[in-house]
Amino acid sequence: MNKQNRRRFLRNIASIPAIVMANKLLIRGGQSSNANHLSMTKSNYEPGYIQLQKTGELKARGEILHERMRSCDLCPRDCETNRIRGRRGDCNAHGHLEISSASPHYGEERELVGSRGSGTVFFTNCALLCVFCINYEISQQGRGQRQSIDDLADMMLFLQRHGCHNINIVSPTHYIPHILLALDKAVPRGLHLPLVYNTSGWEKKEVLEFLDGVVDIYLSDFKYDDAEAADKYSPGAYSYPEVTKEALTEMNRQVGVAHADEDTGLIYKGLMIRHLVMPENVARSDRVVRWIAQNLPKDTYVNIMSQYTPMFKAFDYPEIARRITRSEYRNVVTIARNAGLTNLRQQMI
Ligand code: SF4
Repeated sequence: MNKQNRRRFLRNIASIPAIVMANKLLIRGGQSSNANHLSMTKSNYEPGYIQLQKTGELKARGEILHERMRSCDLCPRDCETNRIRGRRGDCNAHGHLEISSASPHYGEERELVGSRGSGTVFFTNCALLCVFCINYEISQQGRGQRQSIDDLADMMLFLQRHGCHNINIVSPTHYIPHILLALDKAVPRGLHLPLVYNTSGWEKKEVLEFLDGVVDIYLSDFKYDDAEAADKYSPGAYSYPEVTKEALTEMNRQVGVAHADEDTGLIYKGLMIRHLVMPENVARSDRVVRWIAQNLPKDTYVNIMSQYTPMFKAFDYPEIARRITRSEYRNVVTIARNAGLTNLRQQMI
């Protein structure tokens, strides 16, 4: 980076607040890890995007997807907005990147956090529009700043220099073209960390195919297995269960089961699923965990999350205007175990 670019980058980083997530995960179970090894990087792991960059494939895929923003169909809303001309789609994104923060994050699963954090980039806006979103200021109220593709590449390299174990892109769907093009610029400058695609799960299979060989770890929600609940709490997302099941199947095909490395305790590749238990079983958690057990490998990594907290517009829906009870949570864990899932993470409640 020349001096001028470096000054600009440092200004950008300084103006982006580090987010301290309120919902720190309290995870128990799973493989034990040796703290002395956690700061190590597995020396023989090379992310697939490095080879794709060398062949020009990464840039080509990014450019194809960038063109699709002229009538955007990157997410299941298919709103066909011309983002290149500056219009904002249903997700509120236009053609330029907007980013809320880039910082090491210690609130993710411990197999991503290790000792030096997960290098998290929070993108502004989101297509799912959940009424209970804990990050609603970023996802639905536009908190963030316009950044260039070069800026995003600089951020990735900054997080790597900081010692983070991975690059964790949060709510990436509407910015996939920019992410691929930023990786294309960062690889020749030495980027080599696993890429974590941190998503709501509401992803089109045919767009995910552009990420085959690019993403190392899919960290995906499976929020609802009830179309009416999906439509109610994520307005317009009636297709969520059907689309997400297809997406999870594709993610599993691409990266397989996530297992922590015995030496470092870190996950470098694989599918990690999160399910947030909601009050009154509105999300149909029973169906969510049974579907995973019946359609994906039994040792699929599943984090059953207990930290649901009514936020944002949740108080307009009396049935979800409270936290969950211990018995609601335990009931889901029991169903998951009885369904045969063996790689569960559960939390204190
Ligand atoms: S990513 Fe945004 S602009 Fe594109 S189809 Fe989805 S909602 Fe519309």
